[in-house]
Amino acid sequence: TETLHIIGGGMAGSEAAWQAAQAGVPVVIHEMRPTVGTFAHRTGSLAEMVCSNSFRSDDSEQNAVGLLHWEMRAAGGLIMEMADAHRLPAGGALAVDRDPFAEAVTDRLRAHPMVTVVDEEVSALPDQGHWIIATGPLTGSALAQAIAAEAGQESLAFFDAIAPIVHADSIDMDQAWRQSRYDKGDTEEERTAYINCPMDRDQYEAFIDALLVAEKTEFKPGETAGYFDGCLPIEVMAERGRETLRFGPMKPVGLTNPHAPDAKPYAVVQLRRDNKLGTLYNIVGFQTKMKYGAQKTVLSMIPGLQSASFARLGGIHRNTFINSPTLLDAQMRLRSKPHIRFAGQITGVEGYVESAAMGLLAGRMAAADILGHDLAPVPETTAMGALVTHITGGAEAKTFQPMNVNFGLFPPVDARGGRLGRAVRYKMYTDRAKADWTDWLGLRVAAQ
Ligand code: FAD
Repeated sequence: TETLHIIGGGMAGSEAAWQAAQAGVPVVIHEMRPTVGTFAHRTGSLAEMVCSNSFRSDDSEQNAVGLLHWEMRAAGGLIMEMADAHRLPAGGALAVDRDPFAEAVTDRLRAHPMVTVVDEEVSALPDQGHWIIATGPLTGSALAQAIAAEAGQESLAFFDAIAPIVHADSIDMDQAWRQSRYDKGDTEEERTAYINCPMDRDQYEAFIDALLVAEKTEFKPGETAGYFDGCLPIEVMAERGRETLRFGPMKPVGLTNPHAPDAKPYAVVQLRRDNKLGTLYNIVGFQTKMKYGAQKTVLSMIPGLQSASFARLGGIHRNTFINSPTLLDAQMRLRSKPHIRFAGQITGVEGYVESAAMGLLAGRMAAADILGHDLAPVPETTAMGALVTHITGGAEAKTFQPMNVNFGLFPPVDARGGRLGRAVRYKMYTDRAKADWTDWLGLRVAAQ
């Protein structure tokens, strides 16, 4: 049997290695730590948790990340097994005792007869063989350059400048309206591609005041190189002048508010569709380093967003990721070099759990290739499938930003247009996902 090589033994690489090894495929993990470190990792263990020690909600009936836990457990995932074994009390969240967790993942993989761990930094793209690149948000710079050379400089981001993303059904359309600036576009869909939230002068001034005093997060030493390249946080724009935003992302030109056609807005916040389903919208140009609590307070001052529910809040931090919607096929293979798959945070998912989940899929897909098995497409109705579909094609390539799993990525369950209560809908999502994921796992076994 041919060998699967995995670059990076983090959350994704470790899970990918486990899945492939369990399927009977020999695996070599190439991990640069402890010889070469990063600014965030502290140890030489595989699957080190670099920051918080939480896998977030473990509620598999009402929460999309809890559902991802469930699906990974059902698939015999190593990361979940070890997280469960080293669980700390934390209410509904799955908090993990990070050092024993990472050591247990390392021991299990090193002890596996099909797994070899090599301590080396990989600096070039491999020419042949079966490979998964799972080098994460802090990918070594030589390899990052090699990826950029292959994919195109504009297809590799080094910073994550995230504008907050809002669930479309939580926007108050009695205040907001759909219109593209100057009604641009050839189709009705294009002419109404944006959702606009108007502000009068008092609202704008109050908003700027709130931005200026809001609590912000600081950069870590070594993290900031390249930061000012076209992704200024809104609060920094506001610091440069009270009018800067009104002449930047909040400019009120080319837009007419149908709720008040005679009153020209003093400023307008625009939201742009973030997925093909049209369930998620990002706030255009609103990358920010405000703390999460402050973001919710400040953004809820925007007319139309008073009750907004956020699929993710904004942020700016070091993060290497590729433009997966253009570069990867549905099997997570690099279109231009299909012997190379990508997995984990570098594919544009966000978070320990999502990264491990994409490792799980990539490991299974690579193993199926090597063993000559057919693998049915992962159903989009599962958390795994919703996430992989989003990154490999569902997301808008032009505005692609890393994504947490959330129900906005799933095909809607509510044919009646959002009239069912949230708890009922979430239960419908998770019931459907569990059934389809169980089927998919069965199909895979049946195909072997
Ligand atoms: P990693 O777990 O980082 O694994 C990648 C591995 O590849 C590393 O072990 C690295 O040493 C190795 N590697 C890199 N380049 C090479 C190379 N060229 N050759 C060989 N090996 C290489 N997510 C959360 O859910 N919660 C958080 O609190 C959180 N905080 C974060 C804080 C920071 C500072 C960063 C950068 C990210 C954070 N994330 C967090 C995001 C993300 O979920 C984690 O980084 C997660 O570990 C990603 O998993 P991964 O497997 O893709 O990458």
